[in-house]
Amino acid sequence: MASRDPAANQLIKYKETAKNTLSATTAHGTPITDKDATLTAGLRGPILLQDVPLIEEIAHFDRERIPERVVHAKGAGAFGYFEVTHDITKYSAAKVFSQIGKKTPIAVRFSTVGGESGSADTVRDPRGFAVKFYTEDGVWDLVGNNTPIFFIRDPVLFPSFIHTQKRNPQTHLKDPDMFWDFITLRPESTHQVMFLFSDRGIPDGYRHMNGYGSHTFKLVNAEGQWVYCKFHYKTNQGIKNLDVKKAGELSGSDPDYSIRDLYNAIARGDYPSWTFYIQVMTNEQAIKCPFNPFDLTKVWSHSEYPLIPVGKLVLNKNPQNYFAEVEQVAFSPAHMVPGIEPSPDKMLIGRLFSYGDTHRHRLGANYLQLPVNCPFRTANYQRDGQQAIHNQGGAPNYHPNSFGGPTNSAETKILSTVFSVGGDAKRYDTGDEDNFSQASTFYRKTLTKEQQDRLVSNIVGNLKDAADFIQLRAVKNFSQVDASLGERIAEGLKIQKKNQASL
Ligand code: NDP
Repeated sequence: MASRDPAANQLIKYKETAKNTLSATTAHGTPITDKDATLTAGLRGPILLQDVPLIEEIAHFDRERIPERVVHAKGAGAFGYFEVTHDITKYSAAKVFSQIGKKTPIAVRFSTVGGESGSADTVRDPRGFAVKFYTEDGVWDLVGNNTPIFFIRDPVLFPSFIHTQKRNPQTHLKDPDMFWDFITLRPESTHQVMFLFSDRGIPDGYRHMNGYGSHTFKLVNAEGQWVYCKFHYKTNQGIKNLDVKKAGELSGSDPDYSIRDLYNAIARGDYPSWTFYIQVMTNEQAIKCPFNPFDLTKVWSHSEYPLIPVGKLVLNKNPQNYFAEVEQVAFSPAHMVPGIEPSPDKMLIGRLFSYGDTHRHRLGANYLQLPVNCPFRTANYQRDGQQAIHNQGGAPNYHPNSFGGPTNSAETKILSTVFSVGGDAKRYDTGDEDNFSQASTFYRKTLTKEQQDRLVSNIVGNLKDAADFIQLRAVKNFSQVDASLGERIAEGLKIQKKNQASL
């Protein structure tokens, strides 16, 4: 018993806190007198259809599963607060930032991306890091990752990209070609691929990694002035990663390693926290920026756009019920609050649509009425649909009306920026924009010699199973990051120089 951790002791703890054993009931609340036997005609006889508790229980069991998230299916959640430590009201009038010392309740969900909900936690994969702020102006979701960038910059490619992370449609196996085929055909993915195969590609649980809002957003102040912004949350536990061998072992021995680590840390009172920063860029700077500042495959250099401290995120409460509070928690980048707006980032705009859409499919049209998703206040003209719990009583269900129904908010009007858009409507393939310069900086300046060595070894270890022509294309792309990187990968893959010359 001594070696059991808080997660293992959950049921024992429940028993200590549950005062009395209650009598069981049906879902409609009537006491059940015999939970251990079905109602049969005679000892060996068939079951009677009038065994309502049995039928109810089986029928409910048959409906226990909801569709798992198409991405980020495996995850862990926790609750806590965001506290403002520095004043940024000159940038944003969002109430969440209104005052130093102000605390806002938060929910956080961490996840892997590609695997199913039963997959191992310690795989090489980006990690989701989604934060829900329950503010007095509604819910703000910052649905980020543990990387400040992503593989692609146009959402039209997203479903295909994700298919390459999943299973081959015929074999139902992870495929050695799909991923490398796609990413070598779309070289804008190179920067993120380098992050993925660096040490930070397998974080040691969820507490020892940074988080990033990743996209470019807009912050609007009380005068209606705005700047572009990026969000960063840096771990106060220190960065820790798993080496490849240990991660592989854990995949077999403890596939739920990251969920367990988070749960136990919080249960022990060892609350994880992150320092929350922003970077800002004015519109004038954005116009002059040598690269597209709305391109999700790029970072904003810290030296040009320094990190500005804002506050801290603290997680101090485990969920009471995983399904209700983690499986059903529904984040959406479209959940923004007055003072925070989208930028023209194409990936962000694609996500503004897709997250709400997937939640309506997964959880139903009234998913925002579920307790974990519910804002403090809702007043609108949406009515009915499945599971309409807060259906707004006798309030009018049409707008405009003469009967006291909710109307426009004068207070937040100034926070809706007016902006112009222009240009020829056309499908712009951005595949040949600058794909390598930041990846080069990462390889040459950010990584140490030892980190470079492990990056090469991790790429070779994965790429070696892809078809020869895909390996050659990958070497060609990595050579554009750094000639020696290409050479080292080719060497690791035992690709002859003459084959490279044929590219
Ligand atoms: P800086 O030296 O100011 O920033 C480098 C950043 O790299 C730090 O945030 C550091 O995070 C992070 N980092 C260190 N090792 C790794 C790794 N193995 N995987 C991912 N990130 C890592 O330089 P710049 O701002 O000019 O950026 C230089 C390059 O660093 C960029 O081209 C980009 O590839 C990478 N980078 C930049 C980030 C940014 O927002 N500017 C963020 C992350 C990476 P920490 O401080 O937590 O150790």
